[in-house]
Amino acid sequence: MQKTTETTLEINLSALEHNYNYIRSKVKPSTKILAVVKAFGYGSDAVEVAKELVDLGAEYFAVAYSGEGEQLRDKGIEIPILVLHPLPTNFKVIIHRCLEPSIYSIKMLREFVAFAETEQQQNYPIHLKFNTGLNRLGFIASEIPEILEILQNSESIKVRSIFSHLAASEDQAEREFTLKQLKSFSEISEELLKSLNYKPLLHTLNTSGILNFPESQYDMVRCGIGLYGYGNSVSENKHLQPVVTLKTVISQIHYLAPGDTLGYNRAFTVKEPTKTATLPIGHADGISRAYGNGVGWVTINGQKAPIQGNVCMDMIMVAITNIDCNEGDEVVVFGNTTTAENLSNAINSIPYELLTAISQRIKRVVYRK
Ligand SMILES: *Cc1c(COP(=O)(O)O)cnc(C)c1O
Repeated sequence: MQKTTETTLEINLSALEHNYNYIRSKVKPSTKILAVVKAFGYGSDAVEVAKELVDLGAEYFAVAYSGEGEQLRDKGIEIPILVLHPLPTNFKVIIHRCLEPSIYSIKMLREFVAFAETEQQQNYPIHLKFNTGLNRLGFIASEIPEILEILQNSESIKVRSIFSHLAASEDQAEREFTLKQLKSFSEISEELLKSLNYKPLLHTLNTSGILNFPESQYDMVRCGIGLYGYGNSVSENKHLQPVVTLKTVISQIHYLAPGDTLGYNRAFTVKEPTKTATLPIGHADGISRAYGNGVGWVTINGQKAPIQGNVCMDMIMVAITNIDCNEGDEVVVFGNTTTAENLSNAINSIPYELLTAISQRIKRVVYRK
């Protein structure tokens, strides 16, 4: 690994491989792994991660929006890509780039069928999304007869999969609710399978579902956060390795005297002689203002340096009074020691949010260990 000379997100493909193999070991050999690479691969680099996952054997990808799928196609990704949250305005891109839409309402199903017909498609793969309790997107069970009627009246589309999404698969206290969701999914899929003369894939587990409800893995599982090294529990995190490490450097060191104030709005008043370091990373890079004023920290030469004052757009200042360091030294924001989980928990957030907030202006470096 070269020396850090500016803010850099390091992406460890060996860690990705380790996590993929761990997830692979948790599912039956016949169960396909769909890798979720939405939001720039959870803030990393969707294309680099996707290429590696293809090599590792991932059989499907999912993105949230069609533009994300288009980018993967532009970079040569050829395996099937499920678009989790398309809108009718995206149908043209979806068909032209061979992306596979999640269809979540009757209105949308009718519109997609009509569009596929005008595009003279036959058996275009679609994925039926069912709402079993998350109440976000999806058909409900009572819509099945109407869905079947629409399906039976058109050759333009074919159901590639039937799926649902769990609301609290990481939460042991909500186990009963999750089991209820899984039961609804099983009933819904059975009812549909009875009337279709072919068998679509069934899938309903995200990372924590894979780890906590292995009996419901069906034909495929949808793994996101686990591939990036986070398992939503202390015990699962032990089996996984964080893929990304966010690093920066010290731009300048200041020596402040009692009575001096630090940063915008003079939010921090110095009480005793204080040494601070200014770092080239701010809220525009994904370091929320909530980390300011002592809530968040970075690590310099192995020691924790609290973020002091308000987080600026492009900079933060950290207190380094007792840390031996120099301008130009490397700073770790999060990675293997302070993880994205540790840091995000300081502001009652989750690694998903911290990882996906890392801005696109930050340089990415991919490496293997
Ligand atoms: C984001 C997403 C996933 C991945 O969830 P993880 O908890 O990151 O594994 C799976 N399915 C759907 C529908 C999603 O939106």
